Amino acid sequence: MSGECVFCKIVAGEIPSAKVYEDDRFLVFKDINPAATVHWLAIPKKHIARLSEAKGEDRELLGDLLLTVGHVARERNLDAYRLIVNDGAGAGQTVFHLHAHILSGKELGERLL
Ligand code: AMP
Ligand code: ZN
Repeated sequence: MSGECVFCKIVAGEIPSAKVYEDDRFLVFKDINPAATVHWLAIPKKHIARLSEAKGEDRELLGDLLLTVGHVARERNLDAYRLIVNDGAGAGQTVFHLHAHILSGKELGERLL
């Protein structure tokens, strides 16, 4: 938990969120400013500021984050989606708590990748 981190506050229940999935280590919730028909954020509850600050000890957590995304997508009948991780301000990261954007919808065809 990092005191001024908005996603840690969401994990702690201090800021409301529209939860899609939650377990003891992960949370998936709706992005407040959606860029596609479906736009969710998948986060570890552990505060890791950005992907490049993850350590070897986070190996299992990072792997399970991806498995959780796959599980939630299946559970919610998302058969096609894009996963984006912005690592650093120069890549557009604005919230420094590791998160993966889950994007789905017809808008994706117009995007960079
Ligand atoms: P990034 O630019 O990769 O750091 O993405 C941060 C994302 O967090 C943006 O898409 C924001 O819309 C989203 N966001 C910021 N605050 C909240 C919040 N309180 N609840 C849900 N999404 C948020
Ligand atoms: Zn945090």
